[in-house]
Amino acid sequence: MNDKKIEPGATTRTPLNNCLDCGCKISAASTPDGRAGPPPTEGDLTVCIKCGAVMMLDRDLKVRGMTDAEIEELTSNRATMDELARMVRCIHLIRHRAN
Ligand SMILES: [Zn+2]
Repeated sequence: MNDKKIEPGATTRTPLNNCLDCGCKISAASTPDGRAGPPPTEGDLTVCIKCGAVMMLDRDLKVRGMTDAEIEELTSNRATMDELARMVRCIHLIRHRAN
């Protein structure tokens, strides 16, 4: 059983926008581990909680696609890629269990 608790400051409200892949509404960004952290800023990666799409936040904290250069930089960072893969696997597992 997962007994992690979301700490205050772990979630930041964002302007209402939509996932670029599945179209679900997005109105918040949370830290990946549910612990309090710095608020999200432009250029931070974000993962859709519904479909696992990896996107980037723009200056208004709305999601946007990544440029080829950003994708190249991301895919060259092994630690970040491992963390993203772990998060996407968890999202897909949760989605599978919900269906
Ligand atoms: Zn999505």
